[in-house]
Amino acid sequence: MAENLILEARGLDAGYGEIQVLWGVDLAVRRGEITALIGSNGAGKTTLMRTLSGLVAVRGGVYRSEGHDLAGRSAAEILSHGIVHVPEGRRLFGAMSVEENLLMGAYLRSASRAAIRRDLDQVYTTFPKLRERRNQQAATLSGGEQQMCAIGRGLMSAPLLLMIDELSLGLSPLLVEQLVDALRALNKDGTSILLVEQDVTIALDLCDRAFVMDMGRIVREGSGEELLADPIVRDAYLGVL
Ligand code: ATP
Repeated sequence: MAENLILEARGLDAGYGEIQVLWGVDLAVRRGEITALIGSNGAGKTTLMRTLSGLVAVRGGVYRSEGHDLAGRSAAEILSHGIVHVPEGRRLFGAMSVEENLLMGAYLRSASRAAIRRDLDQVYTTFPKLRERRNQQAATLSGGEQQMCAIGRGLMSAPLLLMIDELSLGLSPLLVEQLVDALRALNKDGTSILLVEQDVTIALDLCDRAFVMDMGRIVREGSGEELLADPIVRDAYLGVL
């Protein structure tokens, strides 16, 4: 695998029961970049993310990261390798406080308490709202704060790759802007991100590289700029020619 790749899938097949959803997916995620996955509803973006995090079984093809073969590995093994999934719907522990949720992200780490404390402080610097609400039950947070908490929990596991499914879903434009700024800052500090985002303009503006999915296949790949200028992408996903 090339030096700068942290994750590579080639010819990946996956699905649920009798239904095959992913058909020969090729995906390459580079270190230090923001990679976006776009495509219409039902294209298979969430299924691809769930496959990369070990929640859906790989049925064929290659899935590798940093010299490790991850195809067939359990979700726990993939997580301990550093591939962290912030799922759609956020899935926080509602009865636990914000800080307890964040600390759950560090559960598998063997880092010292001081290092974990430092990372927690870093998350609070990225998302000051979470510091204000650190003792509040997660279930009582607004949608945007829950998304921040879910991303913060992902960061607490010191991820090799942070995968975020549906960053902006259900959030106000102002909150989305704050989250986008936070992701830019995190990426500037070295966090590699794989993002599924239904708002194609946001995704292509934010990312270094994007992959377009349709019916379980990757149909296009390019820099955000290239895809924003691509007539087929503009017609199909931006509604402009
Ligand atoms: P969306 O933006 O609507 O979430 P998506 O691109 O993330 O779309 P997926 O959620 O991965 O797409 O769905 C891809 C296909 O897999 C769809 O046809 C969907 O009906 C099917 N699918 C998803 N989850 C399951 C499941 N648990 N069992 C069976 N089929 C599923």
